[in-house]
Amino acid sequence: MGKALIIGCGGVAGVVIHKCCQNSDVFEEIMIASRTKSKCDAIKEQLEGRTPTKIRTAKVDADNVDELCALIDEYKPDIVMNIALPYQDLTIMDACLKCGVNYMDTANYEPEDTDDPAWRAIYEKRCREAGFTAYFDYSWQWAYKEKFEKAGLTALLGSGFDPGVTQAYCAYAQKHLFDQIDTIDILDCNGGEHGYPFATNFNPEINLREVSAPGSYWEDGHWVEIPAMSIKREYDFDQVGRKDMYLLHHEEIESLAKNIPNVKRIRFFMTFGQSYLTHMKCLENVGMLSTTPIEFEGHQIVPIQFLKALLPDPATLGPRTKGKTNIGCIFTGKKDGKEKTAYIYNVCDHEACYREVGSQAISYTTGVPAMIGAAMLMTGKWSKPGVYTVEEFDPDPYMEALNKWGLPWQVNGNPVLVD
Ligand code: NDP
Repeated sequence: MGKALIIGCGGVAGVVIHKCCQNSDVFEEIMIASRTKSKCDAIKEQLEGRTPTKIRTAKVDADNVDELCALIDEYKPDIVMNIALPYQDLTIMDACLKCGVNYMDTANYEPEDTDDPAWRAIYEKRCREAGFTAYFDYSWQWAYKEKFEKAGLTALLGSGFDPGVTQAYCAYAQKHLFDQIDTIDILDCNGGEHGYPFATNFNPEINLREVSAPGSYWEDGHWVEIPAMSIKREYDFDQVGRKDMYLLHHEEIESLAKNIPNVKRIRFFMTFGQSYLTHMKCLENVGMLSTTPIEFEGHQIVPIQFLKALLPDPATLGPRTKGKTNIGCIFTGKKDGKEKTAYIYNVCDHEACYREVGSQAISYTTGVPAMIGAAMLMTGKWSKPGVYTVEEFDPDPYMEALNKWGLPWQVNGNPVLVD
């Protein structure tokens, strides 16, 4: 059917590449392009001969629009899949617009340098007006909506698990299960054990920035912000068991608040073990999570980037991780005039993911929906010019594809609610 240019070759991209190669009818050809070309070549070597998909590789600096355009013009893909970092979202979107090609990613934009005065002025205004202080938000990418509309191109934002699948669950609940959704609780549980005292399951810099930030939720038309990790609940997850979970700010709350009509409250909870939280607090207290460069023995170093170099690479956790993830959404609302609740969720086994694609379940649960999102655009199942999040499209083909490609979901019509 077509060609995809995959940018990035880290933990999540490894799964995306395997899954595209399993879905060769749609992904006849792929190009893997990243900062470190040797990683792209290694995965090409591993898969070539085991898939009909033709694989090419290239080196690219995705911060550089001209370099991206030269690659896109030469390869002529049907879609560019941004599986690099949120820092590159805007440059890759710019290159897609210049070259006339569809775009998708798995996480909304945030700047690498949060001390940049131009960015900071806009950020501080947004904090005051919107009422939440996370470094990432959709405003930067939503600002491209008209440009993509005019160009007749589609940008699909945030097609991982959360964001991504969680929004497909919301669109499905809205379409099939409820007349009115009143509340949504997104529950992200990782019951996996990797045996390290401290490691992150995806890019450490992005992960630690996210979880050390103040939490927030949407209620009655506005944001409520709370100190980091200050709302804790315990929940008994199917196939995982009882876990402590904490309320976090998460990007899909922002788009769901716009797109689920009259929703009263949206919260996001993620499970963390005590060891993770103790390590994170200590690292934060000594300044290791800071994004502001410091002078060290004549060099400028960014503490969180130095920490990333010390921590295990999430792409190497696969062979060590045992246990399951359980991620889903609990809904309350009304159907046919009656009160109703529903819980849509997926359970994913770390070891089964490793056997299939050589990665742990966090990369797997992100990489599979990234492949599916791209396939939705490539097959024309989802097609409208502009910039959209997952819940703005028909959930049915996406939900069907989740069952087919390794992330089957189930619906519990009588879940225990979170107080
Ligand atoms: P990794 O750090 O493992 O991989 C990132 C890749 O991007 C690396 O290959 C890196 O190159 C490459 N890269 C970074 N900067 C550039 C650049 N300037 N030009 C070209 N390539 C670049 O991250 P993950 O795979 O863990 O995460 C990938 C994305 O997935 C992130 O945006 C993350 O936020 C998102 N994510 C989304 C989730 C969801 O559910 N929606 C869940 C988990 C992650 P190099 O190899 O040289 O370092």
